[in-house]
Amino acid sequence: MADEIAKAQAAKAGGDTIFGKIIRKEIPAKIFFEDDQCIAFHDVTPQAPTHFLVVPRKPIVQLSKAEDSDAALLGHMMIVAKKCAEQIGLAKGYRLVVNDGPDGGQSVYHIHIHVMGGRQLGWPPG
Ligand code: AMP
Repeated sequence: MADEIAKAQAAKAGGDTIFGKIIRKEIPAKIFFEDDQCIAFHDVTPQAPTHFLVVPRKPIVQLSKAEDSDAALLGHMMIVAKKCAEQIGLAKGYRLVVNDGPDGGQSVYHIHIHVMGGRQLGWPPG
């Protein structure tokens, strides 16, 4: 947890990110869904038995920098998250998270939705 906070505080917005490299297939990832607008792959440091990320091909830096014109894409990402959760078998529910900025715990500055499930998730989150 402390490590994640340190990463988020140190992360810098702007430029290419590791997710850009995954989208371009320059580095490997466990990608299990792709369409013309986004991809989904398993998180390398899962925080739940199932933990995957939905990432748009468009490199929107973070939610607070999204434009009104991104509304359809952001909505599409939610629908993809739902379909992927169904496909993976998260029948008892799951949680979507979008971390924004240092206080939100964002460490990769290419917007993404976390989808976590497979255990009872606590509330409130840390
Ligand atoms: P956030 O802290 O909200 O920006 O989330 C970034 C997420 O990306 C974290 O949960 C990381 O574990 C995950 N992550 C970082 N690098 C990779 C990678 N190469 N493959 C898969 N997930 C990654």
